[in-house]
Amino acid sequence: MSNTTKPTEVAKNAAAPSTPIPLTRKPVAAAPTSVVTAPSGTASKTACIRTFGCQMNVHDSDRMRRMIQDAGFAEVQRYEDADLVVLNTCYVRENAVDRVRGHLGELNRLKKEGRVKKVALTGCIGAANESRELEKQYGIDLVLGTHNTYELAQFVGLPGMDETFTPELPGTEGEHSAFVTIMTGCNYQCSYCVVPSVRGRMVCRPMENVVEEIRRLVGSGTRYVTLLGQTVDAWRDPAGSGERFCDLLERVADEAPRVWFTTSHPSNMEDRTLRLIGEKETIVGRLHLPVQSGSDRMLKVMHRGYKSDRYRRKIEVFREAVPDGTLSTDIIVGHPGETETDHEETLRLIEDCSFDSAYVFKFSPRRGTEAAALSADPSGTVPEDVAQRRFVEVLRAVEQNAFRRNKSKVGAVEDIYVRHGRTGDGKAVGETWSGHAVHIPTEAQPGRYVTATIESAGPHVLYAGDPAGRPR
Ligand code: SF4
Repeated sequence: MSNTTKPTEVAKNAAAPSTPIPLTRKPVAAAPTSVVTAPSGTASKTACIRTFGCQMNVHDSDRMRRMIQDAGFAEVQRYEDADLVVLNTCYVRENAVDRVRGHLGELNRLKKEGRVKKVALTGCIGAANESRELEKQYGIDLVLGTHNTYELAQFVGLPGMDETFTPELPGTEGEHSAFVTIMTGCNYQCSYCVVPSVRGRMVCRPMENVVEEIRRLVGSGTRYVTLLGQTVDAWRDPAGSGERFCDLLERVADEAPRVWFTTSHPSNMEDRTLRLIGEKETIVGRLHLPVQSGSDRMLKVMHRGYKSDRYRRKIEVFREAVPDGTLSTDIIVGHPGETETDHEETLRLIEDCSFDSAYVFKFSPRRGTEAAALSADPSGTVPEDVAQRRFVEVLRAVEQNAFRRNKSKVGAVEDIYVRHGRTGDGKAVGETWSGHAVHIPTEAQPGRYVTATIESAGPHVLYAGDPAGRPR
């Protein structure tokens, strides 16, 4: 992929983005009957959705947002202004439940004062065993797991939906950027992860169904489509045609003007997919491929299903296919049993792969996982001060590589997709075709492209000068 080809495709596929729906939009029409009582003195109803966790949750919240808008609710940002509060929760960190408890306690108080009428708990914690205890303790009105989010529709007064597969619900339309879930669940059993128990086994969505949704989104102004799944590259055609993720990605890249996907699993990542990123002019040259550890011994303990050399080979293919691309990963430090040698092997892998960024996590046990049981044995746990030192060493190693790579972009002229409009510091946040994040002084709205020269670089972001010409 080169920067001279992708911009051509941008112009070819350029479509005027539609106006985003403001978050605080008040309903214009009379709302259907709802179980939520409107606040006294006004006919309108209000709802607040708070999202915790990953992109899948952000996407599920988008779906629920559409339901509450369809039911005539205005979205508000503060609990005390809301008739209905939806907490869409994440279960990935051990303190996640404690965090949610804090919010539920506050909501319970507001309910007693009559300021909040109903509270719904959704997402991963809603699907977990703890939800029953939380429901009783905090008087929660509705608890939904990740598999039955669609039941919120009936709760807010919409006709019941006979859906059993949440991804069939329409994604956000009319926005410049949309997430499209292509599969849910996961067939792996990583030692530290609760996803298989809260999201269940992998369920893939039919190819035509995905393509249809993307056509509709693009037709309504979406310029950036992100394909989502816990192990997105494990997608297989559920109809048994033999089509794999690379086939789906190719189809989507022919339909949408800008495409990305996350999260991938190294065992499922095919060379053909990696080469496609370089070949297709509409696919952003950014790969997020979680490695978790550079030690083969730890990868086995974690049940990751690959060795570090296999991971390195995948990265070689990616770097060759997408020389200008960006690579990010996830790394866990301090997993039970991790030795100094294991840690050094992780540092070596970071050096070899030269990541552009990484999400580094200090291990925290999740109840019900194999790693939590391992961490109950003090002989296998990594002391907090050791884990903290390793965490900092990994972070520094990633940042040093990223900074060096980012500096090589200084002087380049880039077509930058504006993801978030101008913020408090007067800069918008954009993304190059190579997947680099860029701060840029522009008034351009999200969904537009600007062309600008990269003037400086930090370890996490590039800084562009004033754009040349008008936003497109
Ligand atoms: S691949 Fe492993 S870490 Fe990722 S969702 Fe599945 S079990 Fe969790």
